[in-house]
Amino acid sequence: MPVAGSVDALAPQVAMDHRSIGDGPASAALRARAEAVAVIAEKNAGAVDRDARFPEETFAAARSQGLLGIMAPHDLGGEGASLSAVVDICYRLGRACSASAMIYAMHQIMVACILRHRGNTAWHERLLRRLCAEQLLFASSTTEGRGGGNVRSSEAPIERSGSRISLERRATVMSYGANADAIVTTARRAADAAASDQVLVAFLKEDYTLEPLAAWDTLGMRGTCSAGFTIKASGEPDQILPDPYEVIHVRTMAPVSHLTWASVWAGIAAGAVERAQFFVRSAARQAGGQLPPGAAHYTKASSSLLTLRGLVASSLRKFEQAARDEDKLASVEFQTMINLTKVEASELAVSTVLAALRACGLSGYRNDGDYTIGRYLRDVLSSPIMINNDRILANVAASSLMSPVPASMGD
Ligand SMILES: Cc1cc2nc3c(=O)[nH]c(=O)nc-3n(C[C@H](O)[C@H](O)[C@H](O)COP(=O)(O)OP(=O)(O)OC[C@H]3O[C@@H](n4cnc5c(N)ncnc54)[C@H](O)[C@@H]3O)c2cc1C
Repeated sequence: MPVAGSVDALAPQVAMDHRSIGDGPASAALRARAEAVAVIAEKNAGAVDRDARFPEETFAAARSQGLLGIMAPHDLGGEGASLSAVVDICYRLGRACSASAMIYAMHQIMVACILRHRGNTAWHERLLRRLCAEQLLFASSTTEGRGGGNVRSSEAPIERSGSRISLERRATVMSYGANADAIVTTARRAADAAASDQVLVAFLKEDYTLEPLAAWDTLGMRGTCSAGFTIKASGEPDQILPDPYEVIHVRTMAPVSHLTWASVWAGIAAGAVERAQFFVRSAARQAGGQLPPGAAHYTKASSSLLTLRGLVASSLRKFEQAARDEDKLASVEFQTMINLTKVEASELAVSTVLAALRACGLSGYRNDGDYTIGRYLRDVLSSPIMINNDRILANVAASSLMSPVPASMGD
């Protein structure tokens, strides 16, 4: 009998089968479906960025390829895909269209939280069945009011009246809120609870209204449409996930966010490196084989991408190994590692794209032409502030002091 909060009981609900996409025939098929979506995402990436609009073509394709519910188990209509498979899709989409990739990542983070922390609630089981059958898109709301990025603190409480619950929340940044079929949001457990005593609750579109609070006119990631809204929602108590948010955050939300985001940023960096490679090759061809002066920056960009990919792959492996072990997941070492993965991956992604820009020189700096790096750079600059690196570093300062320095290469 599964027990809410027990990682052992939750583990089978997410297929941590340690295979990465591409290992078997099914994985090859999944990769081909993701490729088909990425081609469409790439075609529309310029317009999505220019018009700061939701990448509807990408998500129409993702729905027709059935990519939104792949992590759900077979008995709920999913494919039992591993987190590695999702991470790989994020990378491929990141190369094509940053906003599409980030939206896909954010959706899958919410799916993972529901899969792993739903306990025995029939409501969430129905939601997961609908996710697979109808290819629903889930948005997430953690940023609230003026406080901004402190995910572990909520202002608005869940109110209870008879057999109903309600929530009114100032969600100051919420990606694709207007395009989602459901919102999964943090909230204070009750009006008399502390700000850190939080729950995670899912509301379907018919459960809420959204009143615009703030627009989303940003340097990059324009297509995530992360506008602010006042959410007014009501539903049943069963819509609240049984595990406290504190547990969900440590075991699923933080690791899955950091791994999928990092893979989106690695994908963006790879897109920029690919352009720089075309530029350097073409310049060398035109100069009778002589490499252009910026070629060394290309080498730097590809080396930095290699490090970034290695970092994401190694942290993903560590998460998959720890996923069934709640003590390990909650350990200071694991939490420090996963938080620092986010910080390092975002810094590496920015420096990779900057090196690609320098390799292309003016051709990369221009907004027109085949070698422009502009969109990649603007998009990747969101990475250090998407949960601010300064905040993360301040939070892990004490714990990283407590973590032993590895004594051997195997540690
Ligand atoms: C592309 C994108 C999409 C997003 N989508 C969503 C979404 O769908 N849902 C959602 O809820 N949110 C979303 N967010 C918001 C995100 O989760 C964070 O809330 C936001 O990025 C934090 O922004 P901030 O730097 O202004 O806030 P804060 O983290 O509050 O930081 C504000 C400033 O204070 C500094 N600071 C904060 N704490 C410390 C500290 N302890 N030590 C030192 N300095 C500190 C920071 O350096 C920063 O300059 C999105 C953000 C981006 C960029």
